[in-house]
Amino acid sequence: MKYLLFDLDRTLWDFDGNADRTYRAMYDVFGLEQMCHVDFDTFHERYRVINDALWEAYRNGTVTKEMVAIRRFSLTFAEFGCDASSPAIVRLSQKMSDYYVVEGTHQTGLMPGARELLEWLDTQRERYSLAVITNGFSEAQIPKMRTSGIDRFFSKFFLSEDIGFMKPDWRFFEVALQRLNAEPDECLVIGDDYKVDIAGAMAVGIPQVWYNYRHQTLPQGAMPPTLEIDNLLSLKTILAAPEPVGAFSSTGTKHSNDKK
Ligand SMILES: [Mg+2]
Repeated sequence: MKYLLFDLDRTLWDFDGNADRTYRAMYDVFGLEQMCHVDFDTFHERYRVINDALWEAYRNGTVTKEMVAIRRFSLTFAEFGCDASSPAIVRLSQKMSDYYVVEGTHQTGLMPGARELLEWLDTQRERYSLAVITNGFSEAQIPKMRTSGIDRFFSKFFLSEDIGFMKPDWRFFEVALQRLNAEPDECLVIGDDYKVDIAGAMAVGIPQVWYNYRHQTLPQGAMPPTLEIDNLLSLKTILAAPEPVGAFSSTGTKHSNDKK
């Protein structure tokens, strides 16, 4: 048996498309145009930068989950002249965060080819067992998979909040290996984020597929991933082969005594 460990956001679930729809709705529901005097795109662009920075801080352990939830909004308001620490802004930010977690999980957009890939893998259950590896908030991740109808494809869900470590921490991957009772070379990590998914898997010797649909360049001095694709359906072609070339060997060298 081989284990395919999929990242969720931006690998299977169309995080950006889904978030965009939710934020557009929020912009109207919470009357943000009147409040910030900017259009949606300007607001959202600032939000994105602030949110990414907060998530990086959360991964590094310098801010808590609750701080991320509120500050992603309050700090965006601050950019448009509001006082981020005023009780009214903090309250509004909390409300928006709650709304986002609930409404956001109702979105069902998937990445191109994701459903076809998962449905095909479902016919290959003898060979491949699927797990999710995600850093997202637990209360959002499971409902997201359920509403988009992809939870049924997975036999294991590895959520950072449950595991106690976040990707790219090697301990996250080590715990996943223990729970699967698998060796690194029996697994394959598939993810869109080089620093989070690929570097983390590399640290424990799990082969990786970098789903680089944004065509980013490798971070300076970084080792190339085992495989790189820009289309999820290429993975189907790779995994359909009787002996997937290079897929289950993190060194990229031939692995002749592969356990079955
Ligand atoms: Mg991702």
